[in-house]
Amino acid sequence: MIITGALVGSSGAILSYIMCKGMNRSIFNVLLGGFGGDSAAAAAGPAGDRAVKSGSAEDAGFILKNASKVIIVPGYGMAVAQAQHALREMSDLLKEEGVEVAYAVHPVAGRMPGHMNVLLAEANVPYDEVFELEEINHEFSTADVAFVIGANDVTNPAAKTDTASPIYGMPILDVENSGTVLFLKRSMASGYAGVDNELFFRDNTMMVFGDAKKTTEEIVQAVG
Ligand code: NDP
Repeated sequence: MIITGALVGSSGAILSYIMCKGMNRSIFNVLLGGFGGDSAAAAAGPAGDRAVKSGSAEDAGFILKNASKVIIVPGYGMAVAQAQHALREMSDLLKEEGVEVAYAVHPVAGRMPGHMNVLLAEANVPYDEVFELEEINHEFSTADVAFVIGANDVTNPAAKTDTASPIYGMPILDVENSGTVLFLKRSMASGYAGVDNELFFRDNTMMVFGDAKKTTEEIVQAVG
């Protein structure tokens, strides 16, 4: 009982979400397995001993498939991994499942102006699904999932609160207002600005560690 209670408590909002939606997954699997068995794992790297929740691509696929609205936030890591084609494929599958999908593009996402727009266009993402920050930022509060793929600084709330931060004053995408935030990246490493992102430790965040393209391809398998 104590172990079960601790697991439920530590897995927080995301686990509750899975449990509520978990019609085709065993309750014992959810309680004992967490997110692919990695939940609440201590993360290596700059985060030190602080605990984060991490999950598998399969877990991410499950959450996405059960969402009504998903906002995708691409960043530099998507470009490095060349994950845009797998991402478009994932979006297509989600739309077939009746999920509303939109892309939120930050003006400085990536490493050059228009970087994300070029890559999404190359992958034939429909233009009417791609929105600039000021057009879509208010919509995160109505999204079930923010799918952050290889982006970091452009989501970092330190830009709003930490006057000593190098990114202080930069507008950011308010991904934390979504029900669940999925971060696809390889590690706990920081982005271009070199600052830690507090969002990684939030209750409604699930890290999905790995190369963005490989992970997205695995999610495609899980959703398809
Ligand atoms: P960031 O640089 O903040 O973060 C990118 C993240 O991608 C990293 O934290 C990294 O984490 C992850 N990543 C790298 N490779 C992979 C991979 N193969 N698979 C999965 N994840 C990967 O990117 P953002 O787009 O959020 O922000 C852009 C930054 O660049 C801003 O600070 C901006 O000011 C700056 N910049 C932008 C320019 C522009 O014109 N757009 C020009 C110059 C600077 P991990 O290592 O853990 O995988």
